Amino acid sequence: MIGFSAHTICTLCSSSSASAICPSCKHLFIPLYQQRLETCICGAILYGKASHCLACLQEPPYFHKVFAGYRYAFPLNQLLIHYKHLRQHTTEACLKQLWLQHVHHIAPLPEVLVPIPLHFRRRWRRGFNQAERLAKFAAQELQLPCVPLLKKHIHTQSQQGKTRRERKQNIQGSFSVRKPFNFHHIALVDDVITTGSTANEAAQALITLGARRVDIWALARAF
Ligand SMILES: [Zn+2]
Ligand SMILES: [Zn+2]
Repeated sequence: MIGFSAHTICTLCSSSSASAICPSCKHLFIPLYQQRLETCICGAILYGKASHCLACLQEPPYFHKVFAGYRYAFPLNQLLIHYKHLRQHTTEACLKQLWLQHVHHIAPLPEVLVPIPLHFRRRWRRGFNQAERLAKFAAQELQLPCVPLLKKHIHTQSQQGKTRRERKQNIQGSFSVRKPFNFHHIALVDDVITTGSTANEAAQALITLGARRVDIWALARAF
């Protein structure tokens, strides 16, 4: 399934295309940086002259900044759900194309990319971790190391359908660091960021052990 690279048709509309997404379908994915939105460090949209959203003002996150590529909306949300459950090469190629376009706009680059892990039981059931795939693609593209520094030692419930408070409680203390590290600037990679609770919990584990700056790289941000 994975490893095949010649595209002949567009993943979305099946028209003949040299890449996974044809030029006309590309318009369905507008990168957030092109939308000129004022955003908080957590990626939330800011209105008026606020410099931070209420949640970040009340409790500043451990991460430095979220770099999210696209809005988590149709058709990207469908592609991501499809990918999570079926892991088809064509869907992965499509997501990879969008992801690599996004990561080329991120600056400054970190010293290392670290995927946000799944608990081993969930990873085993799913057969892969989409965050790991994204981290590897970006690492290859940008010539950065990709190191699985974190471990999710608590099997938590899905964050879906939970409030910000419930998400925070659900994920608290569930990440640990696998081995000592010497990186100052780390980017954590995930597929979708919602409230940022998971990313913040993972960032906290790294900051506690000496990282000075932890960024979050995500393919999509849910609003
Ligand atoms: Zn198309
Ligand atoms: Zn915020």
